[in-house]
Amino acid sequence: MNNKNIRCKICGLTANYKNIVFDANGVCNFCHEAEQHTDLKTLLTFDDEEKLINSLQKYKNKNGKYDVVVPLSGGVDSSVTLIRIVKKYNLVPLAFHNDHGFEDEVATDNVKKLCKILDVDLIIKQQDINFMKKLFHYTHSMKNRTLSSCFVCGGIIYANALEIANAFNIPMVINGYSKGQAFMMDNNNDTLELWSGLLEEFQKDENFFKEFMYKQEPMKTQILLKNKNDLKKPLPKGKHLVIPFYVFKFNHTDKEMLRKECEELFDWKPIATTYPSRTTNCKMVWLNTFVDQCKLGYSMYDEEYAAIVRSGEISREQAIKDLEFIPPMELIKELASEVGTDIYLFKNKK
Ligand SMILES: [Zn+2]
Repeated sequence: MNNKNIRCKICGLTANYKNIVFDANGVCNFCHEAEQHTDLKTLLTFDDEEKLINSLQKYKNKNGKYDVVVPLSGGVDSSVTLIRIVKKYNLVPLAFHNDHGFEDEVATDNVKKLCKILDVDLIIKQQDINFMKKLFHYTHSMKNRTLSSCFVCGGIIYANALEIANAFNIPMVINGYSKGQAFMMDNNNDTLELWSGLLEEFQKDENFFKEFMYKQEPMKTQILLKNKNDLKKPLPKGKHLVIPFYVFKFNHTDKEMLRKECEELFDWKPIATTYPSRTTNCKMVWLNTFVDQCKLGYSMYDEEYAAIVRSGEISREQAIKDLEFIPPMELIKELASEVGTDIYLFKNKK
């Protein structure tokens, strides 16, 4: 039976989703659970931007050049974050862009053009490609349900930003992940369980596992901004305050306007094929999503967007539109052969 067309009336999750149950009104159990939890609703948003700017000033770096590390994907959200930091927030940023071998050149070009025009120092980290290939391959190959490869890769980039903060002694990181991702990270025992299953799999390759754990080390130094009171406390030595950029008000304004602002300032260009549409994810998102769709009938993006719909930041209709998955098979085959993943194994299973 194709359950893909049966969707929750509120969040749009499909009937394929793990442990989903609908009530008589077609509303899923996760929407009901979210009503109980206040996590997502209370995740702070600073409506008073002046206050936020003022609170951040006390974390400015007294012993070095940079106040904040800003990871840039080349997308509109992170670009606008950097523009605001430079022009409005009175903070000196060090920009960071990840190139793990599967980045779209257009995205990397956006980052370079932006930093040039804003006169901001930029570090482009080219990851050890064999490590990244193994990471994708091992994650794809897990027979049991596991964390999405995108989630695991995103974790590495997240830790890289902290590594740079450590290296340059920079007090803050302003990082781009959505409320949906925050929900997934924060959320549940399920994530922890999947994480330990994945580590078990990684341990089969001793050298890879060692390097993977080494890359996680900087995570110990983060203090994640979770509520407004966190900004009253001083930052302990050796720690970095990580600020998700959905706390900023501009992040909730019309995305089209933000996009225009980027186009006018530095000739921002969208990447040709991306998933979900309107994002600036790397090419590997296609293979990762393809594998998850084959194995599970959904991907982590369905999960993430359902949470964003519940938080009221995007409509159910827009989310369904953005999530429509039309896999470019040539590209997927190419990526699969690069990382040694056998997609026919999954295709037959479907
Ligand atoms: Zn729902």
